[in-house]
Amino acid sequence: MQYKQFGKNGPMVSRLGFGCMRLPTLGEGDALRCDDEKAIPILERAYQLGINFFDTAWGYSNRDNQRLVGKAVRPFRDKIYLSSKLPPSEIQQPGDFRRKLEHSLRLMDTDYLDFYHMHALNAQKWEYAQKMQMDKDMLQARDEGLIRHVSFSFHDAPQVMANIASCGIFDTLLCQYNLIDQSNEQVMAKLAGQGMGIMVMGPIAGGLISGGGEQFRALYDTPAKTAQELALRFVLSYDAVSLALSGMQSIEMLEENVALAEKAFSVTPQERESYKAANDKLRQLSDLYCSGCAYCNVCPKNIKPQQHFRAYNRAKVWGLTSAAKKEYFDNHLDQEAETCLNCGACAQECPQKIAIPQKLAEIRDYFQQI
Ligand code: SF4
Ligand code: SF4
Repeated sequence: MQYKQFGKNGPMVSRLGFGCMRLPTLGEGDALRCDDEKAIPILERAYQLGINFFDTAWGYSNRDNQRLVGKAVRPFRDKIYLSSKLPPSEIQQPGDFRRKLEHSLRLMDTDYLDFYHMHALNAQKWEYAQKMQMDKDMLQARDEGLIRHVSFSFHDAPQVMANIASCGIFDTLLCQYNLIDQSNEQVMAKLAGQGMGIMVMGPIAGGLISGGGEQFRALYDTPAKTAQELALRFVLSYDAVSLALSGMQSIEMLEENVALAEKAFSVTPQERESYKAANDKLRQLSDLYCSGCAYCNVCPKNIKPQQHFRAYNRAKVWGLTSAAKKEYFDNHLDQEAETCLNCGACAQECPQKIAIPQKLAEIRDYFQQI
Protein backbone atom coordinates (compact mmCIF):
# COMPACT_ATOMS: atom_id res chain seq x y z
CA MET A 1 0.00 0.00 0.00
CA GLN A 2 1.14 3.53 -0.72
CA TYR A 3 0.56 6.41 1.69
CA LYS A 4 0.24 10.14 1.21
CA GLN A 5 -0.07 13.10 3.54
CA PHE A 6 -3.70 14.14 3.92
CA GLY A 7 -3.48 17.92 3.59
CA LYS A 8 -0.77 20.25 4.87
CA ASN A 9 -0.96 19.18 8.50
CA GLY A 10 -2.67 15.81 8.16
CA PRO A 11 -1.42 12.26 8.76
CA MET A 12 -0.10 9.76 6.21
CA VAL A 13 -3.14 7.90 4.91
CA SER A 14 -3.40 4.89 2.62
CA ARG A 15 -4.16 5.98 -0.96
CA LEU A 16 -7.10 3.58 -0.93
CA GLY A 17 -9.54 4.26 1.89
CA PHE A 18 -12.34 1.96 2.96
CA GLY A 19 -15.79 3.45 2.37
CA CYS A 20 -17.94 1.37 4.74
CA MET A 21 -21.39 2.27 3.39
CA ARG A 22 -21.80 -0.87 1.30
CA LEU A 23 -20.69 -3.48 3.83
CA PRO A 24 -22.93 -6.56 3.99
CA THR A 25 -26.21 -6.21 5.89
CA LEU A 26 -29.01 -8.46 7.15
CA GLY A 27 -32.75 -7.85 7.07
CA GLU A 28 -34.74 -5.08 5.43
CA GLY A 29 -36.44 -1.77 6.21
CA ASP A 30 -36.42 -0.86 9.91
CA ALA A 31 -34.92 -4.26 10.75
CA LEU A 32 -31.86 -3.78 8.53
CA ARG A 33 -28.59 -4.31 10.43
CA CYS A 34 -24.94 -4.85 9.58
CA ASP A 35 -23.94 -8.45 9.08
CA ASP A 36 -21.08 -8.59 11.62
CA GLU A 37 -20.06 -12.09 10.68
CA LYS A 38 -19.47 -11.15 7.05
CA ALA A 39 -18.39 -7.52 7.43
CA ILE A 40 -15.80 -7.72 10.23
CA PRO A 41 -13.43 -10.10 8.37
CA ILE A 42 -13.48 -7.76 5.36
CA LEU A 43 -12.38 -4.81 7.51
CA GLU A 44 -9.74 -6.93 9.26
CA ARG A 45 -8.36 -8.02 5.89
CA ALA A 46 -8.31 -4.40 4.71
CA TYR A 47 -6.14 -3.51 7.70
CA GLN A 48 -3.79 -6.43 6.95
CA LEU A 49 -3.46 -5.16 3.39
CA GLY A 50 -2.35 -1.74 4.63
CA ILE A 51 -5.57 0.28 4.48
CA ASN A 52 -5.48 2.69 7.41
CA PHE A 53 -8.50 4.91 6.65
CA PHE A 54 -12.04 3.76 7.42
CA ASP A 55 -15.01 5.98 6.67
CA THR A 56 -18.51 5.55 8.08
CA ALA A 57 -21.47 7.88 8.73
CA TRP A 58 -24.35 8.48 11.12
CA GLY A 59 -26.97 7.17 8.71
CA TYR A 60 -25.28 4.24 6.97
CA SER A 61 -26.82 0.74 7.24
CA ASN A 62 -29.92 2.02 9.01
CA ARG A 63 -27.69 3.74 11.59
CA ASP A 64 -25.88 0.52 12.48
CA ASN A 65 -22.71 1.12 10.47
CA GLN A 66 -20.79 3.19 13.04
CA ARG A 67 -21.24 0.45 15.65
CA LEU A 68 -20.01 -2.23 13.27
CA VAL A 69 -16.98 -0.24 12.12
CA GLY A 70 -16.01 0.66 15.69
CA LYS A 71 -16.26 -2.98 16.71
CA ALA A 72 -14.21 -4.18 13.73
CA VAL A 73 -11.35 -1.71 14.15
CA ARG A 74 -11.16 -1.95 17.97
CA PRO A 75 -8.11 -4.30 17.95
CA PHE A 76 -6.11 -1.87 15.82
CA ARG A 77 -7.86 1.41 16.62
CA ASP A 78 -4.69 3.38 17.41
CA LYS A 79 -3.07 2.34 14.13
CA ILE A 80 -5.80 3.59 11.79
CA TYR A 81 -7.78 6.76 11.06
CA LEU A 82 -11.47 6.64 11.76
CA SER A 83 -13.78 8.99 9.89
CA SER A 84 -17.50 9.61 10.31
CA LYS A 85 -20.12 12.11 9.21
CA LEU A 86 -23.19 13.86 10.56
CA PRO A 87 -25.73 15.61 8.30
CA PRO A 88 -26.75 19.13 9.40
CA SER A 89 -30.40 18.02 9.31
CA GLU A 90 -29.73 15.97 12.49
CA ILE A 91 -29.35 19.22 14.41
CA GLN A 92 -32.62 20.82 15.46
CA GLN A 93 -31.66 22.62 18.66
CA PRO A 94 -28.56 23.72 20.59
CA GLY A 95 -26.76 20.74 22.09
CA ASP A 96 -27.83 18.27 19.38
CA PHE A 97 -24.42 18.28 17.72
CA ARG A 98 -22.62 17.41 20.94
CA ARG A 99 -25.17 14.76 21.92
CA LYS A 100 -24.92 13.08 18.53
CA LEU A 101 -21.14 13.22 18.43
CA GLU A 102 -20.96 11.66 21.91
CA HIS A 103 -23.48 9.02 20.84
CA SER A 104 -21.30 8.18 17.82
CA LEU A 105 -18.19 7.92 19.98
CA ARG A 106 -19.99 5.54 22.34
CA LEU A 107 -21.30 3.47 19.43
CA MET A 108 -17.82 3.24 17.94
CA ASP A 109 -16.25 2.56 21.34
CA THR A 110 -13.61 5.23 20.86
CA ASP A 111 -12.58 8.46 22.66
CA TYR A 112 -12.05 10.44 19.48
CA LEU A 113 -12.63 10.52 15.73
CA ASP A 114 -9.77 11.35 13.42
CA PHE A 115 -12.04 12.99 10.84
CA TYR A 116 -15.58 14.26 11.35
CA HIS A 117 -17.57 15.52 8.38
CA MET A 118 -20.58 17.70 7.84
CA HIS A 119 -22.29 15.15 5.62
CA ALA A 120 -23.34 15.78 2.00
CA LEU A 121 -23.23 19.57 2.07
CA ASN A 122 -24.79 21.68 -0.64
CA ALA A 123 -25.46 25.42 -0.54
CA GLN A 124 -28.69 25.11 1.49
CA LYS A 125 -27.35 22.56 3.97
CA TRP A 126 -24.23 24.67 4.55
CA GLU A 127 -26.41 27.68 5.29
CA TYR A 128 -28.48 25.60 7.71
CA ALA A 129 -25.36 24.16 9.37
CA GLN A 130 -24.08 27.66 10.09
CA LYS A 131 -27.47 28.77 11.37
CA MET A 132 -27.41 25.83 13.80
CA GLN A 133 -23.81 26.70 14.78
CA MET A 134 -22.55 23.31 13.67
CA ASP A 135 -19.30 24.94 12.51
CA LYS A 136 -18.65 26.43 15.95
CA ASP A 137 -19.59 23.20 17.73
CA MET A 138 -17.22 21.22 15.51
CA LEU A 139 -14.34 23.57 16.28
CA GLN A 140 -15.06 23.29 19.99
CA ALA A 141 -15.08 19.48 19.72
CA ARG A 142 -11.72 19.69 17.95
CA ASP A 143 -10.31 21.95 20.67
CA GLU A 144 -11.42 19.39 23.25
CA GLY A 145 -9.82 16.50 21.33
CA LEU A 146 -13.07 14.66 20.51
CA ILE A 147 -12.35 15.09 16.83
CA ARG A 148 -8.95 15.67 15.26
CA HIS A 149 -9.88 17.11 11.86
CA VAL A 150 -12.91 19.10 10.75
CA SER A 151 -14.18 18.01 7.34
CA PHE A 152 -17.10 18.11 4.96
CA SER A 153 -18.44 15.87 2.23
CA PHE A 154 -19.99 17.51 -0.74
CA HIS A 155 -22.59 17.20 -3.53
CA ASP A 156 -23.20 20.45 -5.37
CA ALA A 157 -21.62 22.76 -7.94
CA PRO A 158 -17.85 23.38 -7.77
CA GLN A 159 -18.12 27.04 -6.88
CA VAL A 160 -20.26 26.12 -3.86
CA MET A 161 -17.45 23.80 -2.74
CA ALA A 162 -15.00 26.69 -3.09
CA ASN A 163 -17.33 28.98 -1.11
CA ILE A 164 -17.73 26.48 1.73
CA ALA A 165 -13.99 25.81 1.92
CA SER A 166 -13.26 29.53 2.01
CA CYS A 167 -14.73 29.82 5.52
CA GLY A 168 -11.37 28.46 6.66
CA ILE A 169 -12.48 25.97 9.32
CA PHE A 170 -12.08 22.76 7.29
CA ASP A 171 -8.96 20.61 7.22
CA THR A 172 -10.17 18.14 4.57
CA LEU A 173 -13.04 17.47 2.18
CA LEU A 174 -14.63 14.54 0.38
CA CYS A 175 -16.03 15.06 -3.12
CA GLN A 176 -16.84 13.29 -6.41
CA TYR A 177 -14.07 12.89 -8.96
CA ASN A 178 -13.59 10.36 -11.71
CA LEU A 179 -12.90 9.92 -15.42
CA ILE A 180 -16.37 10.94 -16.47
CA ASP A 181 -16.99 13.66 -13.89
CA GLN A 182 -14.13 16.08 -13.49
CA SER A 183 -16.25 19.10 -12.71
CA ASN A 184 -14.57 19.57 -9.30
CA GLU A 185 -11.02 19.30 -10.62
CA GLN A 186 -10.01 22.96 -10.72
CA VAL A 187 -11.39 23.73 -7.29
CA MET A 188 -9.76 20.59 -5.87
CA ALA A 189 -6.36 21.70 -7.23
CA LYS A 190 -6.74 25.19 -5.79
CA LEU A 191 -7.77 23.94 -2.35
CA ALA A 192 -5.03 21.28 -2.27
CA GLY A 193 -2.56 24.06 -3.10
CA GLN A 194 -3.83 25.93 -0.06
CA GLY A 195 -3.12 22.90 2.14
CA MET A 196 -6.55 21.27 2.32
CA GLY A 197 -6.65 17.46 2.26
CA ILE A 198 -8.70 16.13 -0.65
CA MET A 199 -10.37 12.72 -0.56
CA VAL A 200 -12.54 11.52 -3.41
CA MET A 201 -15.55 9.22 -3.60
CA GLY A 202 -16.95 7.45 -6.61
CA PRO A 203 -13.67 6.65 -8.40
CA ILE A 204 -15.60 4.29 -10.70
CA ALA A 205 -18.69 6.53 -10.78
CA GLY A 206 -20.83 4.14 -8.74
CA GLY A 207 -20.09 1.27 -11.14
CA LEU A 208 -20.85 3.23 -14.32
CA ILE A 209 -17.27 3.05 -15.55
CA SER A 210 -16.70 -0.61 -14.74
CA GLY A 211 -20.11 -1.26 -16.37
CA GLY A 212 -18.69 0.31 -19.56
CA GLY A 213 -16.28 -2.64 -19.76
CA GLU A 214 -13.86 -3.18 -22.62
CA GLN A 215 -15.68 -0.74 -24.88
CA PHE A 216 -14.98 2.05 -22.39
CA ARG A 217 -11.37 1.00 -21.68
CA ALA A 218 -10.60 0.94 -25.40
CA LEU A 219 -11.33 4.68 -25.64
CA TYR A 220 -8.04 5.27 -23.83
CA ASP A 221 -4.43 4.42 -24.61
CA THR A 222 -3.72 2.68 -21.32
CA PRO A 223 -1.80 -0.24 -19.83
CA ALA A 224 -4.87 -0.86 -17.63
CA LYS A 225 -6.48 -4.24 -18.30
CA THR A 226 -9.99 -3.24 -17.28
CA ALA A 227 -12.16 -0.13 -17.13
CA GLN A 228 -12.06 -0.32 -13.33
CA GLU A 229 -8.26 -0.34 -13.28
CA LEU A 230 -8.20 2.58 -15.70
CA ALA A 231 -10.57 4.52 -13.41
CA LEU A 232 -8.33 4.01 -10.38
CA ARG A 233 -5.21 4.93 -12.37
CA PHE A 234 -6.85 8.18 -13.37
CA VAL A 235 -8.03 9.19 -9.89
CA LEU A 236 -4.96 8.14 -7.90
CA SER A 237 -2.56 9.80 -10.31
CA TYR A 238 -4.09 13.22 -9.74
CA ASP A 239 -1.74 15.22 -7.52
CA ALA A 240 -4.47 16.96 -5.57
CA VAL A 241 -5.96 13.65 -4.41
CA SER A 242 -4.62 12.19 -1.16
CA LEU A 243 -6.86 9.13 -1.15
CA ALA A 244 -9.83 7.57 -2.89
CA LEU A 245 -12.62 5.89 -0.95
CA SER A 246 -13.85 2.63 -2.33
CA GLY A 247 -16.84 0.68 -1.00
CA MET A 248 -15.93 -3.00 -0.97
CA GLN A 249 -18.48 -5.68 -0.18
CA SER A 250 -16.35 -8.80 -0.07
CA ILE A 251 -12.77 -9.91 0.57
CA GLU A 252 -12.39 -10.79 -3.12
CA MET A 253 -13.45 -7.29 -4.18
CA LEU A 254 -11.14 -5.77 -1.57
CA GLU A 255 -8.10 -7.78 -2.68
CA GLU A 256 -8.82 -7.00 -6.31
CA ASN A 257 -9.09 -3.25 -5.63
CA VAL A 258 -5.93 -3.18 -3.51
CA ALA A 259 -4.02 -4.95 -6.32
CA LEU A 260 -5.39 -2.51 -8.91
CA ALA A 261 -4.55 0.47 -6.71
CA GLU A 262 -0.98 -0.82 -6.25
CA LYS A 263 -0.52 -0.80 -10.02
CA ALA A 264 -2.11 2.65 -10.31
CA PHE A 265 0.74 4.17 -8.31
CA SER A 266 3.09 3.66 -11.24
CA VAL A 267 1.19 6.03 -13.57
CA THR A 268 3.68 8.34 -15.28
CA PRO A 269 2.98 12.02 -16.01
CA GLN A 270 2.84 11.07 -19.71
CA GLU A 271 0.15 8.48 -19.11
CA ARG A 272 -1.82 10.96 -17.04
CA GLU A 273 -1.53 13.53 -19.83
CA SER A 274 -2.74 10.96 -22.35
CA TYR A 275 -5.93 10.45 -20.29
CA LYS A 276 -6.55 14.17 -20.23
CA ALA A 277 -5.92 14.43 -23.98
CA ALA A 278 -8.27 11.50 -24.67
CA ASN A 279 -10.96 13.12 -22.53
CA ASP A 280 -10.59 16.43 -24.35
CA LYS A 281 -10.81 14.66 -27.70
CA LEU A 282 -13.86 12.68 -26.64
CA ARG A 283 -15.57 15.83 -25.50
CA GLN A 284 -14.91 17.46 -28.84
CA LEU A 285 -16.83 14.59 -30.42
CA SER A 286 -19.79 15.63 -28.34
CA ASP A 287 -21.86 18.50 -29.63
CA LEU A 288 -21.83 20.21 -26.27
CA TYR A 289 -19.34 20.63 -23.51
CA CYS A 290 -20.84 21.34 -20.12
CA SER A 291 -18.24 21.79 -17.36
CA GLY A 292 -20.85 21.31 -14.61
CA CYS A 293 -20.11 24.79 -13.21
CA ALA A 294 -23.82 25.38 -12.40
CA TYR A 295 -23.78 29.09 -13.24
CA CYS A 296 -26.98 28.34 -15.15
CA ASN A 297 -28.84 27.31 -11.99
CA VAL A 298 -31.05 30.39 -12.05
CA CYS A 299 -34.11 28.63 -13.44
CA PRO A 300 -37.61 29.67 -12.30
CA LYS A 301 -38.57 26.00 -12.72
CA ASN A 302 -35.54 24.83 -10.73
CA ILE A 303 -34.16 22.92 -13.70
CA LYS A 304 -30.49 22.01 -13.32
CA PRO A 305 -29.26 21.76 -16.93
CA GLN A 306 -25.93 20.17 -15.95
CA GLN A 307 -27.78 17.01 -14.83
CA HIS A 308 -29.31 16.65 -18.30
CA PHE A 309 -25.97 17.29 -20.01
CA ARG A 310 -24.14 14.88 -17.75
CA ALA A 311 -26.45 12.01 -18.67
CA TYR A 312 -26.29 12.97 -22.35
CA ASN A 313 -22.50 13.10 -22.38
CA ARG A 314 -22.24 9.77 -20.62
CA ALA A 315 -24.20 8.25 -23.44
CA LYS A 316 -22.80 10.16 -26.40
CA VAL A 317 -19.17 10.64 -25.35
CA TRP A 318 -18.36 7.55 -23.32
CA GLY A 319 -20.83 5.12 -24.84
CA LEU A 320 -22.45 4.34 -21.45
CA THR A 321 -25.83 4.42 -23.13
CA SER A 322 -28.01 2.19 -21.00
CA ALA A 323 -26.63 3.52 -17.70
CA ALA A 324 -27.11 7.09 -18.93
CA LYS A 325 -30.66 6.36 -20.06
CA LYS A 326 -31.45 4.89 -16.65
CA GLU A 327 -29.97 7.95 -14.93
CA TYR A 328 -32.02 10.24 -17.16
CA PHE A 329 -35.38 8.57 -16.61
CA ASP A 330 -34.81 7.57 -12.95
CA ASN A 331 -34.33 11.27 -12.19
CA HIS A 332 -37.42 12.21 -14.25
CA LEU A 333 -35.34 14.58 -16.35
CA ASP A 334 -37.71 14.10 -19.29
CA GLN A 335 -40.57 15.51 -17.20
CA GLU A 336 -38.34 18.30 -15.97
CA ALA A 337 -37.39 19.24 -19.53
CA GLU A 338 -41.14 19.49 -20.35
CA THR A 339 -41.50 22.29 -17.80
CA CYS A 340 -38.91 24.54 -19.48
CA LEU A 341 -40.42 27.98 -20.26
CA ASN A 342 -37.86 28.72 -22.93
CA CYS A 343 -37.08 31.99 -21.15
CA GLY A 344 -33.34 31.78 -21.83
CA ALA A 345 -32.25 32.99 -18.37
CA CYS A 346 -29.97 29.96 -17.95
CA ALA A 347 -28.26 30.33 -21.33
CA GLN A 348 -27.30 33.92 -20.55
CA GLU A 349 -25.19 32.67 -17.65
CA CYS A 350 -23.43 29.83 -19.48
CA PRO A 351 -19.70 30.43 -20.09
CA GLN A 352 -19.76 27.63 -22.71
CA LYS A 353 -22.46 29.47 -24.65
CA ILE A 354 -24.71 26.42 -24.74
CA ALA A 355 -28.18 27.05 -26.15
CA ILE A 356 -29.62 25.40 -23.05
CA PRO A 357 -33.41 25.35 -23.70
CA GLN A 358 -32.96 23.93 -27.20
CA LYS A 359 -30.48 21.35 -25.95
CA LEU A 360 -32.80 20.21 -23.15
CA ALA A 361 -35.46 19.43 -25.75
CA GLU A 362 -32.99 17.69 -28.07
CA ILE A 363 -31.69 15.55 -25.20
CA ARG A 364 -35.22 14.57 -24.20
CA ASP A 365 -35.91 13.48 -27.79
CA TYR A 366 -32.60 11.60 -27.91
CA PHE A 367 -33.30 9.57 -24.76
CA GLN A 368 -36.89 8.90 -25.80
CA GLN A 369 -35.68 7.48 -29.10
CA ILE A 370 -32.76 5.28 -28.05
S1 SF4 B 1 -34.89 28.43 -20.44
FE1 SF4 B 1 -35.85 26.73 -19.37
S2 SF4 B 1 -34.19 25.81 -18.21
FE2 SF4 B 1 -33.51 27.85 -18.79
S3 SF4 B 1 -34.04 29.18 -17.06
FE3 SF4 B 1 -35.73 29.27 -18.53
S4 SF4 B 1 -37.16 27.71 -17.83
FE4 SF4 B 1 -35.21 27.27 -16.84
S1 SF4 C 1 -24.81 24.42 -18.99
FE1 SF4 C 1 -23.20 26.00 -18.98
S2 SF4 C 1 -23.53 27.17 -17.08
FE2 SF4 C 1 -24.70 25.26 -16.92
S3 SF4 C 1 -23.34 23.87 -15.82
FE3 SF4 C 1 -23.02 23.51 -18.00
S4 SF4 C 1 -21.31 24.86 -18.58
FE4 SF4 C 1 -22.04 25.56 -16.58
